[in-house]
Amino acid sequence: MQTPKKPGGWSSIRYVFRQSRKAGGIGTMWKAMRSKNTCKTCAVGMGGQKGGMVNESGHFPEFCKKSIQAMQADLQPAIESSFWTENPIDKLRQASPRELEACGRLSQPVVYTRGSKTFTPVSWDDALTRISDKLGATLPDESFFYFSGRSSNEAAFLLQLFARLYGTNNVNNCSFYCHQASGVGISSVIGSGTATVVLEDLDKADLVFLIGANPASNHPRLMRSLMNVRRNDGDVIVINPIREAGLETFSIPSDPRSLLFGSPIASDFIQPHIGGDVALLSGIAKGLMEMDAVDLGFLSRHTTGSDKLIESITAMPWEHIVRDAGVAQAEIESIAARYASSENTIFAWAMGITHHQHGTVAVQLIAALALMRGMIGKKGSGLMPIRGHSNVQGIGSVGVTPVLKDAIFTALTEKYDLDLPSTPGLDTMACMEAATSGQVKVGFCLGGNLYGSNPDLVYASKALSSLDLLVTMSTTLNTGHPWSLAEETLILPVLARDEEPQKTSQESMFNYVRLSDGGPPRIGGPRSEMAIIADLASRVQQKETSPALNALNWSAMNDSAAIREMIGHVIPGWESMHKMNASSAEFQIEGRTFHTPTFNTTSGKAHIQPLALPELAECQSPHFRLMTIRSEGQFNTVVYEDEDIFRGAPSRDVVLMHPADLSSLQLTEGQRITVEGPAGRLPFFQVISFERIKPGNVAMYFPEANVLLDRRLDPLSKTPAFKGALVKIYV
Ligand code: SF4
Repeated sequence: MQTPKKPGGWSSIRYVFRQSRKAGGIGTMWKAMRSKNTCKTCAVGMGGQKGGMVNESGHFPEFCKKSIQAMQADLQPAIESSFWTENPIDKLRQASPRELEACGRLSQPVVYTRGSKTFTPVSWDDALTRISDKLGATLPDESFFYFSGRSSNEAAFLLQLFARLYGTNNVNNCSFYCHQASGVGISSVIGSGTATVVLEDLDKADLVFLIGANPASNHPRLMRSLMNVRRNDGDVIVINPIREAGLETFSIPSDPRSLLFGSPIASDFIQPHIGGDVALLSGIAKGLMEMDAVDLGFLSRHTTGSDKLIESITAMPWEHIVRDAGVAQAEIESIAARYASSENTIFAWAMGITHHQHGTVAVQLIAALALMRGMIGKKGSGLMPIRGHSNVQGIGSVGVTPVLKDAIFTALTEKYDLDLPSTPGLDTMACMEAATSGQVKVGFCLGGNLYGSNPDLVYASKALSSLDLLVTMSTTLNTGHPWSLAEETLILPVLARDEEPQKTSQESMFNYVRLSDGGPPRIGGPRSEMAIIADLASRVQQKETSPALNALNWSAMNDSAAIREMIGHVIPGWESMHKMNASSAEFQIEGRTFHTPTFNTTSGKAHIQPLALPELAECQSPHFRLMTIRSEGQFNTVVYEDEDIFRGAPSRDVVLMHPADLSSLQLTEGQRITVEGPAGRLPFFQVISFERIKPGNVAMYFPEANVLLDRRLDPLSKTPAFKGALVKIYV
């Protein structure tokens, strides 16, 4: 397959029409997309009270294939009872992520008990009795609660509150497997862990660094902002081991000029080795220092720790930088010179930065690089982690973290007189390990595919299958369901965001909180997440094993307005939350956007962190450095299309490899090979000649390639290294 010359555009429009027809017609899709609900897919954020397909700047129409794909999945018919006998677990295990997603909407609770060959439908009462009986008979710290970014702030707040009053802090979210390094890294520098900019800031920037991110595939409507930077004579410097076609020229369907002629996006492409990011960023800092372009006045007025960083970068020889980055000194210096001449720069990044063992260090260095030119604390400049799921940021904001922020803990205990546990909570990987060792026995997942999100999938399956009880609240089937079989395993079908009977809220990556109206259910059977949590908590409360639960009337907690009121009282910056109830007013979270250089630290200064170049393992053919990637037809672990048209890959069982590396191994395009990684091997994969990748590096699709990866974590954020593993390729 060829890569398209202008990804997006007409082919996206045709796709939208095709999918709409499948989902019941253009009218049905249009009505669903225009409803006053937050887009269900990525954290760029659309919709809410401004109406569907409207972005935070008020621009309409803003939608993309991803949003259509997610909507189409929710418009599927219900899975019938007979499905479960016709599709025993062995058969479900053979299905691909795409095939499972396409089975239809989950409509009945189903249970698997060890020894059985199938999931079996059960009543809601039976399902909730089984779960509450088990929770009542389990020590709270022998359980864990995992949250995906699909759910609402209200459901997430309620479930984490239940978990803590039940008695455990084993509360964590999917961010531990994606952007936790961004939160930890930025917080350590400026005392706030999210984007420092709003969407409009992108319109004022004359330079955007886009690092380890592919918004053409994963956050398509960000492409409008990048197009505008270029139209305003600004530059977009893309740093990525793959020269992505969608970042060269992109055709934005809702912009006539762009639709017809395409829009240039990247002004420069820098292709470091996978894992060479810290060396490259250090090189840019060194370049700035050598051309006296560091704003020393800003550093001394508004930061601490710059001396140490400058010292270590001064001591860093260019040869090391060039060797590890894989980029020539002159190229790095020219990027530094462009940065030196910029008035307003935004640093944007995604999992190409965070999915490394040194992910937090890289984020800290990005923040330091911005501070070296005074690029945090003014309009049109700042930091922009490109977050994944539509409400992943909100879930973390409302308390879904193993350690509650002091302010939240104090507010819950003092304003509501709640008795919260003080034991240290476990992060996501720690829960997997605790499941393996038998330390935890019950897992409860509010959405997501915990199994599929893990590295070392054989281990992940064993870990989750070691549990006595695993519960997942889901809208559709995913690989986690047949591959994580605890002694007793329940799947609870839930309503999608735009089917909720009550209003719910979501937070975008720009710290904007939207309100979703909900809507009528499309199929009978699924329940609202809030209703399930309140019902379950009430049942556990009646067991009288967790007295702290008595502080709340749980049967009355299925009330999203009451939950918003509580969130407004306990979550810092969310004081406007309760106003949503009276006026439906959406709001920008206080204290997170920095248009003046006063930061959320006790001194008000940013704390630049010391730096150490990570050691990169030597790598020579037939060993290659691997990055796991996502395709244009995919969202997180959910796969909507097997082919990746933006990269010209016909299927997902492939390894993308530079033609020079194919020659060095005497391989031919399409040949079947084996890939061996630190935790497993994948035979019969097809090698694809892909000249867009930096030689010496290969790319494979997440989550299929996760089986190869071991459980190496970034020690600071506990995020697994989904990128940078050495793999061996042979016939
Ligand atoms: S870019 Fe993200 S928020 Fe916007 S329409 Fe696409 S999936 Fe939805």
